[in-house]
Amino acid sequence: MSFTSYMDRALDEARAAGDRGEVPVGAVVVSPAGAVIAAAGNRTRELNDPTAHAEMLAIRAACAALGSERLTGHDLYVTLEPCPMCAGAISFARIRRLYYGAGDPKSGGTAHGARVFAHPQCHHVPELYDGIGAEAAEALLKTFFAGKRAD
Ligand SMILES: [Zn+2]
Repeated sequence: MSFTSYMDRALDEARAAGDRGEVPVGAVVVSPAGAVIAAAGNRTRELNDPTAHAEMLAIRAACAALGSERLTGHDLYVTLEPCPMCAGAISFARIRRLYYGAGDPKSGGTAHGARVFAHPQCHHVPELYDGIGAEAAEALLKTFFAGKRAD
């Protein structure tokens, strides 16, 4: 099942982000042909950039690689429910399908909170599949934040 391997790649990016001291979230952009166009993990601390979420970095890199402001027909895999900022970017990028792992009641913006895709002002809504690899994504986040509290 291909979506599992793409989410595994996103989980690898999440693990690498955690190793860098970033919140362990990873994202992968996949082309309509099934090629990984971009993969990224959170880098907000490293870049001193509050917008440097995994999804934003992956979308930027994919757009740069394609020379396009849109990723029509492309899919995004992310280990955690996107926040409102990233959900907005996903809509602007015209992502076809959004697959995410863990739900995020605290900061999520698709199933929780702002529910960006539910508004009529959201002009492109991706097909949405949640819970893919959720247990692994949740375990990573739990371990990361448990370590933070122990510091
Ligand atoms: Zn975000």
